[in-house]
Amino acid sequence: MARDILVTGGATGIGLAVARHFAESGEKVVVTGRRQAPLEAAAAEIGARALVCDHTDPRAVARLQGELPDRLDVLVNNAGGNTDFDAEADEALGELEAFARDFRANLDANLLSAALTTRAVEGRLAAGGAVVSIGSIAADKGSGAYGAAKAGLASWNLGLARQVGARDITANLVAPGYIADTEFFRDKLTAERRDALVAATALGRPGAPGDIAGAVAFLASPAARDITAQVLHVNGGERGTR
Ligand code: NDP
Repeated sequence: MARDILVTGGATGIGLAVARHFAESGEKVVVTGRRQAPLEAAAAEIGARALVCDHTDPRAVARLQGELPDRLDVLVNNAGGNTDFDAEADEALGELEAFARDFRANLDANLLSAALTTRAVEGRLAAGGAVVSIGSIAADKGSGAYGAAKAGLASWNLGLARQVGARDITANLVAPGYIADTEFFRDKLTAERRDALVAATALGRPGAPGDIAGAVAFLASPAARDITAQVLHVNGGERGTR
């Protein structure tokens, strides 16, 4: 029987690759995102349902609750990103105010979004189901507010695994390394920085969104039923060899 799967931030990059993987396997997929046009285009392309939602906003997540199926098998908390990249000097704010704003934005985008969404749907997750959240190698690298938020996500996941485990639901993280060709890094890295990230891997190449989709699909599959409260690192060996 087809499973019901929610992929947050499923219009682009890793989320789209995950959603596509499940849709091509015959599952019923809902994708979310804040921007309606790219979301609807992506959903139409892969045969998924599109629901606009800002996962940092409790009211938007409450509205989403009303639109989702009564029963879900898999939740993929993928929505997120490094809001440091977009931080702009704001002369109207003092330095500390601007720092606090940008720090909070990272925590909201990468930690609160997953916790809030999981809280909203965990009651409808079926036995045998799975929550897979997208962490980052940044959690282990001292990468400012973004890395701290992803480290927090890994810690939060431990409690979640205990909480939902009694209902035979697993909770894991996939922690990507450098995944080229998504909006995350597009136009944001110098050639030198890109080369350095690739050189730090054992495989000598960046990862692709499909690599993460494969890992997520595994953790949501019957083959991974005894795996919970874990972080699966998918980074071409960067973590092990640096
Ligand atoms: P993208 O920017 O392509 O994907 C992020 C997606 O999330 C977008 O579709 C965006 O759509 C959506 N999104 C962001 N914030 C929200 C929100 N508040 N509510 C709803 N949707 C949201 O980048 P990636 O695919 O690379 O990133 C996906 C995940 O992978 C992120 O969690 C990122 O931190 C993580 N990651 C990426 C790595 C990489 O190298 N690319 C490495 C490690 C981790 P919209 O703006 O329309 O809302």
